[in-house]
Amino acid sequence: MRDHFLVFGAPVLTEEDLEAVLATFRSGWIGTGPKAAEWEQTFARYTGAKHAVSLSSCTAALHLAMLSLGIQPGDEVITTPMTFCATANAILHAGARPVFADVDPRTGLIQPAEIERRITPRTRVILPVHLAGRACSMREILALCEAWGLALIEDCAHAIETLYEGQHAGTFGRAGCFSFYVTKNLTAIEGGMVITNDQDIAEQIQTRALHGLTADAWKRFSDAGFKHYEMVSLGYKYNFPDVHAALALSQFKRLETNLQRREAIWRRYDAAFANLPCLIPPPPEPGTRHARHLYTLLLDLDALTISRDRFLDELHQRNIGGGVHYLSLHLHRYYREQFGLRPQDYPHALWHSDRTVSLPLSAGLTEADVADVIEAVTDVLTRFKR
Ligand SMILES: *Cc1c(COP(=O)(O)O)cnc(C)c1O
Repeated sequence: MRDHFLVFGAPVLTEEDLEAVLATFRSGWIGTGPKAAEWEQTFARYTGAKHAVSLSSCTAALHLAMLSLGIQPGDEVITTPMTFCATANAILHAGARPVFADVDPRTGLIQPAEIERRITPRTRVILPVHLAGRACSMREILALCEAWGLALIEDCAHAIETLYEGQHAGTFGRAGCFSFYVTKNLTAIEGGMVITNDQDIAEQIQTRALHGLTADAWKRFSDAGFKHYEMVSLGYKYNFPDVHAALALSQFKRLETNLQRREAIWRRYDAAFANLPCLIPPPPEPGTRHARHLYTLLLDLDALTISRDRFLDELHQRNIGGGVHYLSLHLHRYYREQFGLRPQDYPHALWHSDRTVSLPLSAGLTEADVADVIEAVTDVLTRFKR
């Protein structure tokens, strides 16, 4: 057994990252400024979007993306219950009501037919999540948006590298929202981004990210000379500092090599777990690129004597950290009580939520780490087989 604990979702940080942060630190300009602007340009070029606005988090990105569409109290936004609570919380922050649509039991992705079932005259937005880095059925979802006159906002927190028919995740609708939190495929410690092809949305978000001050407010202390600034809307404090942007730009250089490393780990896991009492992730849908953010097994509970939570305890005892992505939102007390939801309202999400377990997939894992994960998972699933 491993002699020290393998942390789930550990970031890969290098000396080069540190040097980039230090260089910005030493430049004297550590708040939002030229590095944040460079990161926005880099990310817009990478995704093929016309505009990119960096923010303090993906939660902020989702919140402002919805405000920029003029969401009002009483409006409904259809999203998936198989996501991090931030997705649905941001809908509430914007004053709208989150309406969950059930998922594909195997992939956990929102199902277009279930979205259609939940559309009402109050529906304004469809907000799919590319769970684990797997692209949602964008063709079907876009068709629904078109048929019902709805806006599309994509939660791309897991999907920095995701492609669907050659097109980048986040570019299909009005806005795409990304996260650079510690555990994501690229980290700035904290950070987010909205991409959009709509100049008006980009400008609104930029303004609202800094108190509602005129868009170039950060320039006011630069060497361009003193400028008055004016508040034009009620904004928030969601700006992205340059020290974080320097880390993001440095991490970006390794985005593709890190993805290749995670793909290699993924193949080893697939081969090792294929014949155990669990389902391995289905291969990426044809015409898509999977961002390999989370490697998730679905435990075959009928063939095991233990629950998923006990499985995680057993992994932990073998010094391997695992995760759950996610406990379906309709099972959380807040959502249950606020919206009167019952477990059986979303049977596929319930099924997926009870069985899903995420294994370590960081590009920083050594071959020995991967072997340790395989040994521990194999041991637990063999020992507790019915
Ligand atoms: C991490 C995450 C978010 C929130 O990102 P932050 O940058 O931490 O605000 C939103 N949605 C999903 C699916 C996530 O995994």
